[in-house]
Amino acid sequence: MSRFWTDKIASLDPYVPGEQPQDKQYIKLNTNESPYSPSPKALAAMTEQVSEKLRLYPDPNCQTLKNALATTYSVKPNQVFVGNGSDEVLALAFMGYFTGDKPLAFADITYSFYKVYANLYDIKPQLIPLTDTFDIAPSDYENLDVSGVVVTNPNAPTGKALPLSDIEKILQANPDVVVLVDEAYVDFGAESAVTLVDQYPNLLVVQTFSKSRALAGIRVGYAIGHPDLIDGLERLKNSFNSYPIDRIALAGATAAVEDGKYLQDICDKTIATRSWAVTELEKLGFEVLPSATNFVFVTHPERSAEALYLNLKEQGILVRYFGNKPRIGNYLRITIGTDEEMAALISALK
Ligand code: PMP
Repeated sequence: MSRFWTDKIASLDPYVPGEQPQDKQYIKLNTNESPYSPSPKALAAMTEQVSEKLRLYPDPNCQTLKNALATTYSVKPNQVFVGNGSDEVLALAFMGYFTGDKPLAFADITYSFYKVYANLYDIKPQLIPLTDTFDIAPSDYENLDVSGVVVTNPNAPTGKALPLSDIEKILQANPDVVVLVDEAYVDFGAESAVTLVDQYPNLLVVQTFSKSRALAGIRVGYAIGHPDLIDGLERLKNSFNSYPIDRIALAGATAAVEDGKYLQDICDKTIATRSWAVTELEKLGFEVLPSATNFVFVTHPERSAEALYLNLKEQGILVRYFGNKPRIGNYLRITIGTDEEMAALISALK
């Protein structure tokens, strides 16, 4: 331990990102990136910024992007917050809204960064077990005594989605605390809670450019909610780093939002490829959870997930293996790549 470390630093258990190997060219099906290029319009807008314009600071308010998102989601620009990846939006929301004396409720099997933020801000997690079928049961979110609730919809790594009516049940059961709905994967087949933000002032919906908009490389995420909730996030942001995203990211993200057709096309393509991959995996004996995301969560009754993961890696294909985590240790999470990548996966598994 460094002699400069504090007890706080020593106590951290940081998130370990999925493998991003630099040594050789893998078929990367482990971190849920899009296999497709970002929108050509986004690429052109970013290229235009790579010029003398980079002398200048970006717009700290990200107004063009907020306006474009507001138009797309039928909300007002002051209902939109922009951050450096949804990870940063989540971090600010945890810091601002969940640091009460009471615990924060979220599923026991979900995005593992929530536990890391909770630890960082001394928030006690109240882990709510998924059901036997890996579902979030809204009835488990009633009569809680918590400082907030986080629901991931669709959930990760399971890929399962809740209908909007279940999200409403959770909102109605928790009217006095912020309910954060993390919709990183919503565009691949789930219903977004954005349509509920005017009805529920405690609802904060968080989305990202990293998955359906194929822009993980520029690190842009956003939140949509009641203007007061958004204003709170702005106050936090401006107390920390008033320029959340750079000029290139701002231009690219704005153009990507304006290119709604491209988003639709690559989501449709991913969903079609997913459906083919599920059929092929089932033919090989895998159990595949129903997915509303750009990944599938699978297990094989006769084969070890660890052995499959290692064997695929040897064959140049990376998938996500969760080590010996309870309940999901014998599962693999496989990102939906291109048709060719998925065909390569299936033949490697054969
Ligand atoms: N939420 C969930 C559920 C995720 O899986 C991820 C991606 N790992 C994120 C948020 C963060 O995405 P990003 O920071 O790239 O926007």
